[in-house]
Parts: sequence; structure tokens; C-alpha cells
Amino acid sequence: MKASASKIVLKSPREIALMRAAGRLVCDVLDEIERHVEPGVTTRQLDAIAERLIADAGATALFKGVVNPQARFPFPASICSSVNEEVVHGIPDDRPLREGDIVSVDCGVRLDGYCGDAARTFAVGKIAPAARRLMDTTREALELAIREIRPHTRWSRVARKMQKYVESRGFGVVREFVGHGLGREMHEEPKVPNYVEPAGQRSDFDLLPGMTLAIEPMVTGGKPGVRFRDRDRWTVVTKDGSLAAHFEHDIAVTEDGVLVLSAGESASS
Ligand code: MG
Ligand code: MG
Repeated sequence: MKASASKIVLKSPREIALMRAAGRLVCDVLDEIERHVEPGVTTRQLDAIAERLIADAGATALFKGVVNPQARFPFPASICSSVNEEVVHGIPDDRPLREGDIVSVDCGVRLDGYCGDAARTFAVGKIAPAARRLMDTTREALELAIREIRPHTRWSRVARKMQKYVESRGFGVVREFVGHGLGREMHEEPKVPNYVEPAGQRSDFDLLPGMTLAIEPMVTGGKPGVRFRDRDRWTVVTKDGSLAAHFEHDIAVTEDGVLVLSAGESASS
């Protein structure tokens, strides 16, 4: 919609450099968590790792204390940890992860005034081939989107390719939750759907140099429908109980392509 497109805040090279620092911190946190994901570990332990690294860097955790009107309480942790049929916004707790689980970890920070927000799904020990295929497809959908981003083209061109790829592999694209602009705030305009919205309710936009986006495909092993778990009304689960995976990167659109902000130190620009 034109109204929301006009609220998109384009970032200067200096702001993009600050966002890259925030993105690198999130990447470091996810790397460290990945080293600890194994059967027997609890998501609360993973959250403690994130909390320490974020504090050590002089940053703040974006998710902690977030109030959402539908939820039963403010979000209590530094990461979201979503296990198996949980899609996003799962709450770290004391249940040990079990061999064969998959766990999606989403981490958001604010560092020097700018936000980073990224997610990956991890395998716990040895997982079933179908779970591996779901994880791979979701990660590949994100990689495909990053490859397809070019300035002065429409986002829906990228979203259509992601959706086609995911659905061609027999999986579902979550509709209720989407990517977003980010910068000084975790959620800025525009909304960045991972599918092509029906004509008439389309919030499509042009990819413009200086635009900074969190792109985050959420993919289900079965039907795409999701619901809130009633006990907290934070945790989003698949309606059909199928597994879900989630990968997220922050990117900046540049004059000639794209820069991944939430990649590690060794990633080339
Ligand atoms: Mg996130
Ligand atoms: Mg996000």
C-alpha cells in the first residue's frame, strides 16, 4: 500500500554499518548457541548463553519484556526457542531437547541504537530425513531470496520465487507472520511477506537502495495454518502438528545488489 511504503526509512551508509555490527552480534550469538545444541540441553540454558553474550557486548535483548496484546504476559527471555511443531515465539524453558528434535532460535539485539534480528533452525542430534529436508528448504528459500534481491524491482517478484520453491517441495509457507523492515526499531515498515498476497490486499513495494529488511521464511512440513498455544498465547504452533522451520537474515539493499548484515565476520560484503 502506498501509505505504508511512504513510511519506509532508508538508511545512510553509516547507519548500515551500525546495523551490520548489530547483525554480527546476533550471528555470533547464534553460532555460540549452535555449538551447545545437543540432546539434554534445555532452551533455558541456550537463553542464558544469549543473555550473557548480549550483555557482554553492551547490547540489549530486543525480545525481553515485549508486550503483545494477545499474550498472557510480557515476553520473558532473550531468545525465542521454538521446538518441532512450534513455528516462532516459543519461550525458553526447562524441558531438555531430545535427539531428533529441531529447534528454531530467533535472536534480536539493539547495539548502539540499531537492531539486529536473525534466526536459524538447528538439528538436535540425528534427525529424520523429512525434518532435514524441511530445514534445508527453509534455509534455501532465504538464500534464494537474498540472491534475487536487486534494487528497483518489486518485492513480490522475490516472494513469488520463495513461495514457489517451498511449495514445490511439498511444504507450506506461513501467512500470519512475515518479515519486516528494521533499523532503530525491530519492526519498521514495510511488511515483507514470504508469499504473494492475493490481489487487493497486496502491500508490495519497490526494493530501494538504503532499505534494510529482515527476511524470514517460516515453513511448515504440512499445511501452512498456525495458531497460538493457549497456555502463553506467545508460542505459534502449526495447526496440523507438522514440524516447522525458520531462518532469518537482515539485509540492506545497495545500489548494485544486497548486503547481508547478519552474517559473520568472515562473510564477504
Ligand atoms: Mg527474528
Ligand atoms: Mg524478525
